[in-house]
Order: sequence, then C-alpha cells, then structure tokens
Amino acid sequence: MSVDAPVVNPTTGVPFARVHQADEAEVDLAVERAGRAQAGWAGTAPGDRARLLRRFAEAVDGAIEELAQLEVTNSGHTVRNARWEAGNVRDVLEYFAGAPERQFGRQIPVAGGIDVTFKEPLGVVGLIVPWNFPMPIAGWGLAPALAAGNTVVLKPAGLTPLTALKLADLARSAGIPDDVFQVVVGPGSVVGERFVTHPGVRKVCFTGSTEVGKRVMAGCADQVKRVTLELGGKSANIVFADADVERAAATAPYGVFDNAGQDCCARSRILVERSVFDRFMSLLEPAVAGVKVLDPALDESEMGPLISDEHRNKVAGFVPDDAPVAFRGTVPDGPGFWFPPTVLAPVERDSVQFREEIFGPVVVVVPFDDEADAISIANDSPYGLSGSIWTRDVGRAIRVARGVESGNLSVNSHSSVRYWTPFGGFKQSGLGRELGPDALDSFTDTKNVFISSE
Ligand code: NAD
Repeated sequence: MSVDAPVVNPTTGVPFARVHQADEAEVDLAVERAGRAQAGWAGTAPGDRARLLRRFAEAVDGAIEELAQLEVTNSGHTVRNARWEAGNVRDVLEYFAGAPERQFGRQIPVAGGIDVTFKEPLGVVGLIVPWNFPMPIAGWGLAPALAAGNTVVLKPAGLTPLTALKLADLARSAGIPDDVFQVVVGPGSVVGERFVTHPGVRKVCFTGSTEVGKRVMAGCADQVKRVTLELGGKSANIVFADADVERAAATAPYGVFDNAGQDCCARSRILVERSVFDRFMSLLEPAVAGVKVLDPALDESEMGPLISDEHRNKVAGFVPDDAPVAFRGTVPDGPGFWFPPTVLAPVERDSVQFREEIFGPVVVVVPFDDEADAISIANDSPYGLSGSIWTRDVGRAIRVARGVESGNLSVNSHSSVRYWTPFGGFKQSGLGRELGPDALDSFTDTKNVFISSE
C-alpha cells in the first residue's frame, strides 16, 4: 500500500501537496539500482562525465525561478534567498564539473618499477539533507560525489522534499543516466537509517542535528562506512571596541536572523567588549526593528516564518514569559508559523539560551573584558561551526581568528559559504569538509599500485 504525507506551506499553515513515503524495501531497490549504475558512471570518460554535469548545471540555471518559488512555498524562504540557493546548486555543479578530468593521482619514486596512486570512487553515496537549506546542502553533496564517479541516493527532509525531487527531474532531463542520481523521500528512521545499515551504501553524507549525527556516526562504525557530518552550531559574533561599531550593529541581525535563524552558521551569541556594550545595544535595537519580516514571496522580505508549528513551539520554549527580552522585532498578523526577531540580555553563561542551538530568530548578547576573555567565551561551547570578528586591528583579527575553535570565520563580515572554499565544523559541529578544492577527497579512496619493471 502506498503511503504519502502532506507538504505544508509554512507561510499559510496550509498543506498544498502530498509526497509518497518510501519504505525500507524501496530504499533497498534504489540502493541496488545505484550500485548497478555506478560502474558505468565511473567508467564514463572524464570529459563526458564533466559535460553531463555542466548540462545538469544548465538545466538548473533554466529552472532557477521555478526552484525558488517551490522553496518559498515549501520552506518559507524569502524569494531573494531562494533564488540565491537555486543559483548555488548551479554554481556548485559547474565548479565540480571541472573535477573529472583533474582527478589526479601521484607517481611516487620507487626502485624496480613505478608506483602510482588512483583516486577511486567509493560506490553508492547516501546523502541525508535537513529541512533548513534543502537545495544548497543537496548540491554540496551530490555534485562532488557524482564528479568523483559515485552514484547518489538523496534523502531530503520530510518537511521539504519538493526541490530535491525537482533536481532529480532536471538531472534526468540533462541526460544524467538513470539511477545515477535518485531521490527517495521518507522518514529518517526508515530511509536515513537504512543508508547507515545497508552494506551497499559506502558513504553517508549527513547534514542535520548533532544528536542524530552522533547516531549516524555510531551506526556507520559497524561497517567502517565513510561519513561526513555537518551538524549544529552556536556561533559567536565578537565585537571589539575598536571596530566600526555602527556597522557591526547594523549587520548583526542579518548574521543571525537570516532564514529566520534556521541556519547552522547563525551568529546566535553576540559578544561585545564591555566599554561599548551600551552603545552597541542602542544601535542594535533599531537594526532589529528594521528587519523586514514579511510574506517571503515579496521581494523586499528579509525574514519569513519558521518551518513548522512544532518548531515554532520549540523556539518559543527558549523565550518563556520571564526570559530577559531586551527588545524584539515584529511579525505579520494572520496564519503562518511566525516568530519575531528576539534579543535576550542579560543572560548567564550557563543558561539554555546561551548554551543550546535554538535554531530560530533568538540571539543572546553578552559583554566581555578583553581579547582572551572573548576567545574563552566564544570557545565555551561544544560546537564550532562559524563566527565573526569585528575589529580594525589586523593583528587582533588574526590572533582571534586563530584562537576561536571554529571551521569558518569571517572578519568584519558575516559570510561563511563560498562554494570554492572549504566548509565544515570543529568539535561537535561536524567531521570532514564540504566544498572547495579538497571536497573530492572525501568521496574517493586512494589506491596505491606498484608496477614492476623487472
Ligand atoms: P535532523 O537531524 O532532525 O534531520 C536531518 C536529516 O536526518 C533529515 O533528513 C532527517 O529525516 C534525517 N534523520 C532523522 N533521523 C535519522 C536517523 N535516525 N538516521 C538517519 N537520518 C535521520 O535535523 P533537522 O532538524 O532537519 O535540521 C536542523 C539541524 O541541522 C540543526 O542542528 C542545524 O544546525 C543542522 N545543520 C547543519 C548544517 C551544517 O552544515 N553544519 C547545515 C544545515 C543544518
């Protein structure tokens, strides 16, 4: 019997589609098909594999608006963000389309022959994607995996399956052979767990919560299965007194409230040097009030709703009636899973608001005394994904960037992600790196071959 589940528009709260939910037997079938297709894909001449990936990128480029509108409706992303996200899939495909002809090994000097290395594809990659950035995170896994000669079975989050299904259509229309890239929708406890236990899946590429990521890693150990983990964050935005405090305050809301705070890189702890704390707060208040929380389909919208009513309740749990709310932004009236941008101060360093990933538009602001104190507060977290440093002192920027235990830092900026630079977490924010020049390494194993000349 076919089981399907509703897909809800978070801006209206109304279901607008239904999607079939796969059971374990369907996952097994997809993995078997992917396994059968893999040798042919890996054996496709590098130039042809590259051309097919470029055609896939062109197909995505031709569907940017359709993909963006789908994400606005399915995920409540602002239309400007959603266009960027679809464009990011195109760019990542184009970037890794340059890889097949450059998948170099080495020739290592030995006596009595030659020694060469090959970067062999792993086989079938199981790609598990969360609901907060359905398109980019799919692209970051599937593009390098395919470029390296693997086949991919992608599981989107149950709440946000539609753009992944559309990407599979686009791949097919671009001529990517059948079964090389498949999308299977279903619960994490069924589809995701089967990726972990199925011996035909040689690598799991997981993005999601640290809690589930730990289980995935433990499960993969049983088969020594390769695993990449992109997990949670509680990143610091550190503002020194010598910084352009006006700019730091004006941009801080966008460093945390983008995508309604449902961003693993959200700078959800703002650390401000004590001597400028009051000035910073007085500048932050109008900046937060100015965030345009509007219907995400509008071009001027800067923040949309949360993904679901359940998630809104979870976020609201971090802001009880007696929470130290310094100030808040606004939300539209009417239906939808809205939550206002919220600034909490003062907060204790052992409070749940300081320590836990809220994954909503809630930020804490705490003072610090000096450079060492700032680094120590920033590192007082099990996470280490991203962060920002605001200072005009270049030496300090370098010292603090080296001192903060985090995978992606920006100075006088909040940028985290460029498809040609590495992305990933320290500590419990993850394992391995995506994007950038080294991403292919985590989708290949190195083989060493000695050829005797005797
Ligand atoms: P989640 O862990 O609940 O789910 C992530 C994915 O795993 C979903 O597709 C889900 O269906 C699947 N899943 C659930 N249980 C599973 C299981 N037992 N085995 C295998 N798969 C299973 O996370 P979420 O709520 O969808 O996403 C939010 C989290 O993702 C946040 O913690 C956020 O920080 C993190 N995230 C991290 C990054 C990064 O790059 N570091 C990027 C985006 C999101």
